[in-house]
Order: sequence, then structure tokens, then C-alpha cells
Amino acid sequence: MPPEGARYVIIGAGFAGAATACHLALQGVRQIVIVEQEAVAGFHSSGRNAGFIRQVLSEPAVADLAAQSAEFIRNPPPGWPVPVSYNAIGCLILGRGEQWEALRNDAELAGRRGLEVECWSPEKTLAAMPLIEGASLDGAVWCASDGVIDVSALLSGYIKTAQSHGAVVRYGATVEEVRVRNGRVQGIATSRGSFEADVVVNAAGPWAGPVGIMAGASPIAFHPRRRHLFVTPPLDWVKPDWPFVLNVSDEVYFQPSSGGLMLCPCDEEEMPPGDPPTDARAVELLAERLTAAYPNFPDVPIGRYWAGLRTFTDDNRFVIGWDPVIEGFFWVAGLAGHGVTTSAAVGSLAARLLFGADPDPNFSPARFG
Ligand SMILES: Cc1cc2nc3c(=O)[nH]c(=O)nc-3n(C[C@H](O)[C@H](O)[C@H](O)COP(=O)(O)OP(=O)(O)OC[C@H]3O[C@@H](n4cnc5c(N)ncnc54)[C@H](O)[C@@H]3O)c2cc1C
Repeated sequence: MPPEGARYVIIGAGFAGAATACHLALQGVRQIVIVEQEAVAGFHSSGRNAGFIRQVLSEPAVADLAAQSAEFIRNPPPGWPVPVSYNAIGCLILGRGEQWEALRNDAELAGRRGLEVECWSPEKTLAAMPLIEGASLDGAVWCASDGVIDVSALLSGYIKTAQSHGAVVRYGATVEEVRVRNGRVQGIATSRGSFEADVVVNAAGPWAGPVGIMAGASPIAFHPRRRHLFVTPPLDWVKPDWPFVLNVSDEVYFQPSSGGLMLCPCDEEEMPPGDPPTDARAVELLAERLTAAYPNFPDVPIGRYWAGLRTFTDDNRFVIGWDPVIEGFFWVAGLAGHGVTTSAAVGSLAARLLFGADPDPNFSPARFG
């Protein structure tokens, strides 16, 4: 456990770094520097996602974090600096065959966790969402409390909370070296100067692997995978209160967005860390998957689209905890496709572990050996 008055450097101003800084600050830590290579927070994955809070998940440990986090996001603590709008449009997750069996299991686990979920028949599902007419499905899981969050308000709420307790953010500073002496972190060197630190938190998203190597920390394999999102112009037949509809068998999702639709072909192409280029073939993939899933889905114009990286570990679970090799080096990484949803609970867990709580075996970096 770091001494009282310890200095913390957090690498990355995405949801992982910002939520960790926020929860450390709420626990009384005053010496925090967040170092971000870009000119703004949330430039990478944290600013390119669908902003959906989804609580029915297949990995139980991640689902626990999602449920705790959703509660925090819906009811931030008194004095929260930025109002965060949350639109509980609900989530319909469709499946057939083995995927439907797995979904029913996820729904049962979610129910045991206290979440209100329902399993719907294909008839009920089709009646609720006319766009999916013709879908081949065995059923759907409905979660009414899921919804869309204002992503930039949530992110800036974490950062502003940390700043109001003394944290400093250094934008445009790329970490080039993690200084280690006798197996213990000493600080970092960046493109804009050096910072001494007792604790260095690796919240570098897709770059978590290279930053770990920089520190000589335990080698953990991360897999950044590109995903595209598409947004249509406003469409007069779209209802703003339609739910988020995820089809896990045909791998496609859509939700109402800005008067039109946001759509995703659930693509997963491994890429190096960076600013992923868009690939026009993703438009074809989207069309193919929509047609396969919903033969009567209307043709929709695409207004704009972009790509972002979701970063996975080998077991798809997050990495949150002290590095087993380098003293003072802490990981908050590999948040995959759930980093917005789970952010509040991830930050809170990270702060507890940083203060000496027992490692959580589900997320411990040591599990990779
Ligand atoms: C298309 C898409 C849709 C998604 N939809 C959802 C969704 O609906 N709901 C959900 O919960 N999640 C969703 N996600 C996942 C979510 O966006 C991520 O899990 C989350 O943003 C990861 O946050 P992060 O802080 O780990 O990474 P990032 O946001 O990438 O932040 C890491 C930061 O570290 C900085 N950094 C890296 N290296 C250095 C260095 N050497 N020096 C200084 N700074 C450095 C980077 O510049 C970056 O800002 C989606 C992701 C994508 C791509």
C-alpha cells in the first residue's frame, strides 16, 4: 500500500484513467497527475463508442461491475460537477440456438443479481420492434433499465471531480519512459517533461501493452480490435424511444440516435494501437449482416461513420491490480466493449486495490502468470 501523501501518475485520460483518478480523489488523494498524449480527454476509444449502458453480460465478474456502475451513473453522488443525461430506452438482446441458451443463462444470473430482466418469445419481440420483422430468433432478453449515456458529460464529470480535489491533467504529453529503480517505479518521462511518482497507473487503453513493456512489467497480451459505428441522418419513421437492439446470433446492433439510427456490424479486426483508419468494406458488412438478420429492414442512408478500438485480454476479463513484477506499477486496462458501462465500478475497484484491498482474482494481472 502506498504511503500517505503518495504521488500518483495516471497514464491515459479515457474512462479507465479518469474514473480511477476520480475515485482516488474522492478517497482523499491529492497528488494525482493524469498524463494524456492527446490534446483532449477521450480522443480514442472513450470518445468513439456507442455510449450504451448494458448490464446483461455473459462474464459474471464484469456483469457485477456493470450493475454497480450503472447505479452510480444513474445516481451520481451529491455535488457531481456535470449533469449527465441518461435515457433508459432499454435493451433487447436477440438470439437463437446456443446463443439463445447462453442469453437465458445471462438473464437468470442478472435476475439473481437483482436486475429486472424478462425473457420474451419471438412473437412478443417482433410485436415490440417492427424493424426486425422476418428475424430468425428463439427469443430475446429485455432489460428496461439499460440506456444511453451522455459520454462526454460522464467523462468530464470524472475528470472535473478529480481536478476539484487537486488532480492535474497534462494534455499533449506522451509517456516515453516509465522510470524504475531496483524493481520499483520512480516516475515517468514524457515528451513534455518528467514526473516523479510513487505509483504509476497504466490506463493507456490500446497502448496498455506497450506501456507495460516500457516499465518492464509482467507481460500481458492485449488485443486492440477495430469496430465501426454508422449514423444515419434524421429519419422521420424512427421512434426516439425504440430500444437498443443487439442480435448476438447475426452480430449486428442498432439504436435510435439524433433522430435517426446508429448501427454497428459488430466487426472485430485486430489492429495495432493508434487511430484506426475506417474501412469502406465495413459498410458492405453492415448491409450483409442487416439483411441476413432482418430481411425486411429498410434501406438506410449513412450520414457518417467512424472506427474505434476495443482492447481485449486473452480471457476477455479486465486487468485491474498491482503488477506482480514492478512495485508501484498498477494496471487498469483491457476494458473491451464495456468501459463506459463499468467505468464507475472500475474506478472504485481500482481505488480500493490501490489502498491495499486484497487482489480481485477475476481481474488480477497475476492471473496471466
Ligand atoms: C465502436 C465502439 C463502441 C463501443 N460501445 C460501447 C458501449 O456502448 N458501451 C460501453 O460500455 N463501452 C463501449 N465501448 C468500449 C469503451 O469505449 C472502452 O472500453 C473504453 O473507452 C476504454 O477506455 P480506456 O480508458 O481503457 O481507453 P482509451 O479511451 O483509449 O484511453 C486511453 C488513453 O491513453 C492515452 N495514452 C495511451 N498511451 C499513452 C502514452 N504513452 N502517453 C500518454 N497517453 C497515452 C490515449 O491517448 C488514450 O486517450 C465501445 C468501443 C468502441 C470502439
